[in-house]
Amino acid sequence: MVTKMEQKSIALDGPAGAGKSTLAKMVAQHFGLIYVDTGALYRCVGLYALRNDVHAQDEAAVTRLLPEINLEMKYDDAGVQRMFLGGQDVTDAIRTPEVSQYASDVSAMPAVRAFLLSMQREMAVKYDAIMDGRDIGTVVLPDAGLKIFITAEPKKRAYRRYLELLAKDPNTQLEDVAREMSLRDKNDSERAAAPLKAAGDAILLDTSNLNLEESFVALCQMISEFRSKQVT
Ligand code: C5P
Repeated sequence: MVTKMEQKSIALDGPAGAGKSTLAKMVAQHFGLIYVDTGALYRCVGLYALRNDVHAQDEAAVTRLLPEINLEMKYDDAGVQRMFLGGQDVTDAIRTPEVSQYASDVSAMPAVRAFLLSMQREMAVKYDAIMDGRDIGTVVLPDAGLKIFITAEPKKRAYRRYLELLAKDPNTQLEDVAREMSLRDKNDSERAAAPLKAAGDAILLDTSNLNLEESFVALCQMISEFRSKQVT
């Protein structure tokens, strides 16, 4: 059943490094929405597999782990999403390049996607949400009232992600980031289960030649227009 809340939701999809999470956080704060980062869920499953010495591409073994995963998504007082595995806060631990690759591998598994689906839909029913991911407009919230697909040229995306990682680790190399990102893009777009693609009714936002402020303004315009048409 399509709920009114789902029609109010905003789906934001796109490849890694397109600026989805940074922009989603900014617009969430601007419009008083809850920002749901769905990649964090796949990252938690990836981290759990890693910590249990399960190979990221061993589908049978990853599937066996799922019933025992105690995964929680919570919001702190500042409205920031925090992820918990077995009661432990792993919000920062899931941000390493190794976990990124694990997340991409486990996210290709239908059992993992099914495991995380209801959790994502519940968030859209509960909150006025902007949700980012790869398949939000196509699979998770096909009835979302506004769907935006954010993208940018691969080189620009890699450079942005490089600057982000460099701030945490001075040994970060641009070539490594670019390689890891193109591998993830390939995995995410070529997998059979819910591949990364723009929904037919999504609005495209290419941020290749836009800075953060300009991208934010463009996104705000789309959201303002959408919200002005909503029946309350
Ligand atoms: O968005 P983020 O880079 O944190 O996502 C990590 C990985 O999780 C992605 O590379 C993708 O493989 C997977 N993912 C997904 N579906 C989503 C969100 C993320 O498959 N809705």
